[in-house]
Amino acid sequence: MHAQLNWQQSLSKLIEGNMRFRLGLRSVESFASSLRLRELAEKGQNPSAIILTCSDSRVPTEILFDKGVGDLFVIRVAGNVISNTAIASIEYAALVLQTPLCVVMGHTQCGAVRAAISSVVESSPAPTENLDSLLRKITPAVNEVFKANGTTNEETLLERSVLTNVQHQVRRLKERGQSLYSLTENGKFRIVGAVYNLHDGEVNFDLKDIPNFKIDNQLPLPSFKETPFISKQWGPS
Ligand SMILES: [Zn+2]
Repeated sequence: MHAQLNWQQSLSKLIEGNMRFRLGLRSVESFASSLRLRELAEKGQNPSAIILTCSDSRVPTEILFDKGVGDLFVIRVAGNVISNTAIASIEYAALVLQTPLCVVMGHTQCGAVRAAISSVVESSPAPTENLDSLLRKITPAVNEVFKANGTTNEETLLERSVLTNVQHQVRRLKERGQSLYSLTENGKFRIVGAVYNLHDGEVNFDLKDIPNFKIDNQLPLPSFKETPFISKQWGPS
C-alpha cells in the first residue's frame, strides 16, 4: 500500500503525471504488475485522487495523468455534472478511503455542453427525458455565459461554457456535499476544478484560490506551442 498523501501532494502528482503524458513518457507505476494487482486485491484500494469527469472517449483519465491500477477513484458522466449519486461516490472515497483531493474536470469540445448550448439557443427539449434532465444541470452555466458575453462566436461560447460549467459543478458539490465540509475545514480535503484540452493534452487546474501552490517538479516543462485556450483565464466563480 502507498502511504496516503495530503491534497497538495496528490495535486502535485496529477500535474506531474499530466506533464509526463504530454511529453509522451510513461512511468513504470502506470503498468499493472501482477504484484501490484495482488496487493490491491488483498489489501484494498488507497487512491490518491477522486476525479469527476466527462464520459467522452477522448478523456481517458488514468492515461492522461500517467496513472495505473488503484491510483484514481474516477466518476464519469456526460458533462461532468454533479448528482446525488456522484456526490455519494465522492463521499465514499473522501470519508471511507480518505482520498484527500477531488478534481471536477471538464474538457474542450464537450458534446454535452454543446448540446446544452443548443437547447438554450433553440429553446427545445433534448430527444429523451433523461438527456433533458442531464442538460438541465448544465444550462445554468450556459445562461450565465450568455448573460456575460451576449452573442459571440460559437466556439468562444463553448469554451467559456465548459469552464463555467466546471465552476458551477464545483460549487454544487461544495453546497450539497455537506459531509465534506469538515474535512475541507480541517485542511484534509480539497475540491479543485480543471479543464482538459483535447488539442494539446494539457490539464489546466483552477488554482486561483491557491496562488502559492508549487509543484515538486522534477521534469522540464513541455515546450508546447501556446494555445489561446480560455482556461488560462480562470475568473471568479
Ligand atoms: Zn464531454
